[in-house]
Amino acid sequence: MARWQDYGWDPTWTAGPVSVTWLGTAGFAIEAEGQRLLLDPYLTRASLGTAAFGRLVTNEALIAPWTERVAAIVTGHTHFDHALDVPALARASGAPVFGSTSAARLVRAAGLPAEQAIDVQSKALPFEVEVGPFRLRFVASQHSRFLFGRVPYPGDIADCDQVPDRTGAYRCGAVFRVEVRVAGRTIVHVGSADLIDDAVAPIESDLVLACVAGWTTTKDYPERLLAAMRPGHILLSHWDNFFRPAALGARALPAMKLPVLTERLAKSARVGAIEIGHSITL
Ligand SMILES: [Zn+2]
Repeated sequence: MARWQDYGWDPTWTAGPVSVTWLGTAGFAIEAEGQRLLLDPYLTRASLGTAAFGRLVTNEALIAPWTERVAAIVTGHTHFDHALDVPALARASGAPVFGSTSAARLVRAAGLPAEQAIDVQSKALPFEVEVGPFRLRFVASQHSRFLFGRVPYPGDIADCDQVPDRTGAYRCGAVFRVEVRVAGRTIVHVGSADLIDDAVAPIESDLVLACVAGWTTTKDYPERLLAAMRPGHILLSHWDNFFRPAALGARALPAMKLPVLTERLAKSARVGAIEIGHSITL
């Protein structure tokens, strides 16, 4: 488990009106003014055996704590480790889902009203929208090509009348990074370790929620991320073995090369990681 102290950022010193909780993988809950925004929430954490050979089904008990006061659910792309729990969370919370055409199809396939899914892919990007206290800006992005130089499960989720239950059916779909502005803070969610450098002009951000998985195959990922988002702080995500239950704690995969990534990011930001279920405030 990577600790804050390893990276020079002790999270306990910060305080503020916005709380950010890591849900594991690229999943986060951002809370402000009594409302909650869920980003790539994947709480089920199916075992490797289930993901490889079984049926993927949302664990309702694991999503239950996250279904209250949800202003919106955001899906950056639709691989299962980002999107599996989205239809169930949308059903339980009644919150709108923002994501790609694939994400909208998932929501409809679950039998939810079409208007509960906002197809960001059909909008002119960058696309801005206000939900509760959160102002969201969706910026075109891309998935890291970590599978022998390719994006795993490329393409879109097919229009279907049942939520898919196989890993391979969760096609990547369009990819977004999402800027969240709330209570005077700017937080950027990067759900896959790549970006489109000139999608928008560089911004200043307080915190980037930076995906680690796949970063080693993305040329100059740390430097490009720093240049595009100029973050004060970076919270590393998607470095954990997500086939393990959250209750056992996050365990980093050696292939993630966390120390190398951290050293490069720490040249112009404070970098840290926390345990699943833990929060920081800013
Ligand atoms: Zn992915």
